[in-house]
Amino acid sequence: MIKKAFGIAGALVLLSASCPAMAQERVLNLYSARHYSTDEALYANFTKATGIKINRVDADDAGILARLKAEGAASPADVILLVDAVRLHKGEADGLFKPIKSQALEAAIPAQYRARPTAEGTTWFGFSTRARVVLYDKIKVKREDVDTYEELADPKNKGRICIRSGSHPYNLSLFGAVTEHLGEQKAEAWLKGVVANLARDPKGGDTDQIKAVGAGECQVAVSNTYYIARLLRSNNPEDKALMERVGVVFPNQATWGTHVNIAGGAVAKNAKNTAAAVRFLEYLASSEAQNHFANGNNEWPTARGVKVSNPALQGMSGGGDFKAETIPLAAIGANQVKVQQMLDRVGFK
Ligand code: FE
Repeated sequence: MIKKAFGIAGALVLLSASCPAMAQERVLNLYSARHYSTDEALYANFTKATGIKINRVDADDAGILARLKAEGAASPADVILLVDAVRLHKGEADGLFKPIKSQALEAAIPAQYRARPTAEGTTWFGFSTRARVVLYDKIKVKREDVDTYEELADPKNKGRICIRSGSHPYNLSLFGAVTEHLGEQKAEAWLKGVVANLARDPKGGDTDQIKAVGAGECQVAVSNTYYIARLLRSNNPEDKALMERVGVVFPNQATWGTHVNIAGGAVAKNAKNTAAAVRFLEYLASSEAQNHFANGNNEWPTARGVKVSNPALQGMSGGGDFKAETIPLAAIGANQVKVQQMLDRVGFK
């Protein structure tokens, strides 16, 4: 018998493979780039409601995509959570996701925050948003000099700007958005202007840029909002002093709105438990899960009609809503080849 040759472990594999119904309903294999302790409650609630246990593999966005590629058809992954639109777009473009049709998801998640649908269905859905905003030294910089993305390229801000690597997905998404709003020619001139205004070569993450403003190394920084919310919620006296010193601007309120990115999910191309995977994504769009999902990392929910009460988020945006851009994130993904070429041409590291 073949079973013997595989030994006990092999026999177990064959056994579960021969009982697809059992394997299908009980366990969901999740590859997640989210590492927030509050997400634990989210998974526990899903298991409680459905009886489906979640097996989680943690890695970052790039690591998950590489792993899915390497595993191919043998991949045990059912559902994928990533934290950036460009990466979600890449997963789709590389054929790593299974298109699905879900009325619940289509009703809950605005078209702007999901992949472009095809005849087979939709691949990825965004479940929370984060804005990419500007911070400035309140003593040295006038707010009105940095309240649009366009001004980051203006000579008046020469030598002031700190930003992480141009090729980081958060910046690729922002640049893809700028390209969509301004057109390719103006976007490239803008990128050139931003490079000319840098205070130093890009290094570190978003929080490092904010801290560099505090340290006087630069006067303007670009960051995702949840990093700012973390600093605003921090009890560390240094963080408090830093957040006293810097102002936060949601750019382009008078024009196309502030750029927002998403964290989102998809069903894996070779998912064995597709029904459970879809159920999990639908659960993430529920009001309860949206609150956990968004608040876990100080983000805004995407599902229609869901509001969070998060003091750090409200404080940051001046107590109310801000105007977010309305272009589809799928368009930002589609601009990525152009963006990469522009970055090479302008020498944005
Ligand atoms: Fe991040």
